[in-house]
Amino acid sequence: RRQDVDHFWKTGELDPESNVQFGEGGAGAFSDGKLTTRSRDPLVDELLETLHAHGATPDILVDAYPHIGTDAFEAIIQSIRRRILELGGEIRFGARLEEVKIEDDRLTAINVNGRWEPCQALILALGHSASDTLRQLHEDGIHMESKPFQVGVRIEHPQRFINEAMLHDFKDDPRLIPARYTLTAMADNGKGIYTFCMCPGGYVIASSAQPGQLVVNGMSYADRAGENANSALLVQVNESDYGPGLFDGLAYQEEIEKRAFALSPDYRAPVQKAADYLEGVVSESLSTRPTYEPGTVPADLNTLFSDEVNHALHQGLLDFERKVPGFLEGTMTGVETRASSAIRIPRDKVTRMGDEGIYPSGEGSGYAGGIMTSAIDGVKSARALMDRYAPCAQSDTE
Ligand SMILES: Cc1cc2nc3c(=O)[nH]c(=O)nc-3n(C[C@H](O)[C@H](O)[C@H](O)COP(=O)(O)OP(=O)(O)OC[C@H]3O[C@@H](n4cnc5c(N)ncnc54)[C@H](O)[C@@H]3O)c2cc1C
Repeated sequence: RRQDVDHFWKTGELDPESNVQFGEGGAGAFSDGKLTTRSRDPLVDELLETLHAHGATPDILVDAYPHIGTDAFEAIIQSIRRRILELGGEIRFGARLEEVKIEDDRLTAINVNGRWEPCQALILALGHSASDTLRQLHEDGIHMESKPFQVGVRIEHPQRFINEAMLHDFKDDPRLIPARYTLTAMADNGKGIYTFCMCPGGYVIASSAQPGQLVVNGMSYADRAGENANSALLVQVNESDYGPGLFDGLAYQEEIEKRAFALSPDYRAPVQKAADYLEGVVSESLSTRPTYEPGTVPADLNTLFSDEVNHALHQGLLDFERKVPGFLEGTMTGVETRASSAIRIPRDKVTRMGDEGIYPSGEGSGYAGGIMTSAIDGVKSARALMDRYAPCAQSDTE
């Protein structure tokens, strides 16, 4: 998977089955590894301990903003895999869930790589990008609903600039780590604009999973020593933007990604200085050098979004410039459309099942959004499954 992702970043040749979103460790494997969460669930500490036991730095147990870094995940995920195997688990690489069979509202079988197998209990943790699987599972009878999500861009500034803006006289203090920021604004059309998943000393990365669709995201290595800081700059969208149909949100998301791809063949990403985006002119030069590979093309990002989204982004940027003078010198890279799932799979609060036998879990279920909340959600589904099938076994297991 590492090789496939590196190949994509170097050449723009995407493997739709093995990329930043799909493969062992999921999107988390190439994530930035910020473990901050607003959840106060007691499982948070347990999960941080688990990550530490599998090789994450002990700092995550005490830091206010725990961070792992993309480079550290590979070993952690391999260690978790070994533990699963030791405990008797089986891992089938290259296994693709294609269909499910639901009879009398109850799961009876799953189709993996074209072969049907009987199945009574399925933890369905597809992440937020498996749109083809979601569409098929809906056809097979799984209940789903659409939910609001966000669209926008990544914005980059030199980390030196962010340090100056946030730390002032302490900008060069060696005791401090690279500065972070969070900015929010409300546009007069009622849309919220906010920065999200800020990566100090990080990189903007190509994280497409579908051919012909361009998606960007951000990450940093454990040392956060990159020249630039990046952050998602997002606007909330809902049914009034894309329509009431179940898959209207997904289609809207895909349309923006296709438009971005059309501007930038071979997965080069469209870029624009924020100040030029406000003026609607293609940038002749950029103040902040973009970090995105496999390369960038100058474009007017206004052409990618609806008037409402552009209006909100414009107002948000002007507000952020007032708060952080110089913010408009940042480079915007399009498009960031996969900050959360466009679909929710409803489930019972107690049994955690949707349709009988199906445990929708993690980010793709629509109930989680990030590493920690997805992990908490997964553990809770696993425990609900154990309650049902082996209630006595829980005290003997990890
Ligand atoms: C670049 C990047 C940076 C991020 N940074 C952060 C961060 O700093 N902090 C944070 O909290 N979150 C971050 N995230 C988000 C975080 O990674 C996700 O919220 C989290 O991984 C969701 O976990 P999940 O297990 O629910 O889904 P995923 O991690 O998306 O895993 C889904 C899995 O399902 C598999 N799958 C999909 N379809 C099928 C099928 N049909 N058959 C079989 N398997 C299938 C996929 O291959 C994948 O392994 C980042 C994401 C990205 C892409």
